[in-house]
Amino acid sequence: MQFRKQTGYPMRTCSRNLVVAIVILITVARVGVAAEIYTGPMIDAHSHLGASFDWDTMIHILDLNNVSRQLTMARYYPAPAGSADRPGNDELALALASKYPGRFFPLVAMQRPELTGANKWLNPDAAVMKLLNEAEAKLATGRFWGIGEVIVKHFAYSSGPHAERENPIYSPFMQRLSQLAARFDVPVVLHMEGAPRLVADFARLLQENPRVRYVWAHNCGRSKAPVIRAMLENHPNLYCDLGCMTNVGKTGYGIGWPRMEEYTALIEKDGVLFPEMRDIYEAFPDRFMIGMDVNHAPGMTPENYGQRAQRFRELLAQLKPQTAVAFAEGNAIRIFKLDR
Ligand SMILES: [Zn+2]
Repeated sequence: MQFRKQTGYPMRTCSRNLVVAIVILITVARVGVAAEIYTGPMIDAHSHLGASFDWDTMIHILDLNNVSRQLTMARYYPAPAGSADRPGNDELALALASKYPGRFFPLVAMQRPELTGANKWLNPDAAVMKLLNEAEAKLATGRFWGIGEVIVKHFAYSSGPHAERENPIYSPFMQRLSQLAARFDVPVVLHMEGAPRLVADFARLLQENPRVRYVWAHNCGRSKAPVIRAMLENHPNLYCDLGCMTNVGKTGYGIGWPRMEEYTALIEKDGVLFPEMRDIYEAFPDRFMIGMDVNHAPGMTPENYGQRAQRFRELLAQLKPQTAVAFAEGNAIRIFKLDR
């Protein structure tokens, strides 16, 4: 009636119905678009810190993206050749956490030059023993929330000694680290591209340390769906983060960068989760967390971080609402005991 009065043109019932139908369709479409984005707060459960990171920029970017908390892992590795991106350390991560209470949760960092060389994992030298003793002292303060990121198998994206890495996960070093994690009840985050022999060795480590929560970064080492499913089924103490697994931008594990192997896989294309991955996420709703994984200061920009965060919001919307909430926040809080 209102419409008819305003236009002055009487409408027949059928065309009025058509208008009503179109309005309903538009409304449904709008609701559909809104439902495709997860809008709740998110915890960035895989993130790094170096001395070149600007803290004001970091907190601004977290706020812009409704990221409530960030698990922060200092990167001790020096900058890639030709970059002025300075390394960080655990003291820096603690200072950041103190400045912004409740926002940053430091882990005892393991991206450390001392750990380059498989022999050091098999026969820890004095430098590695010192690192372990210091890790123990740091965990005893109660100011750290985990250990990581331990670099087991890593594909090079720059030159230098710490770029391409393959270390034995079933080794005295990892056993020592696992004992610390058990004693202080904190998770161990590790980066291990899912090479089959290493996955088998990891299964032994998981089995022998049932009290330790291991977080296998980057969608369980970018493994293919059957491997992820089998590992999660067999090992209740295994968790995974989706650090950098969004298929956006010019770098990042989610685009297959810096390279793929026959045992690696992606999780999504054009913002749509692959069905076999989504099935795993719904089968194990309490085992995954998200993470933006900005490792170098030049990448900590609103554009780069925001692109990853926004894509996670699109991916989370493809999960059941309770699964999305768990991936976005709940699992990180529980696995890292952030509310302790
Ligand atoms: Zn990593």
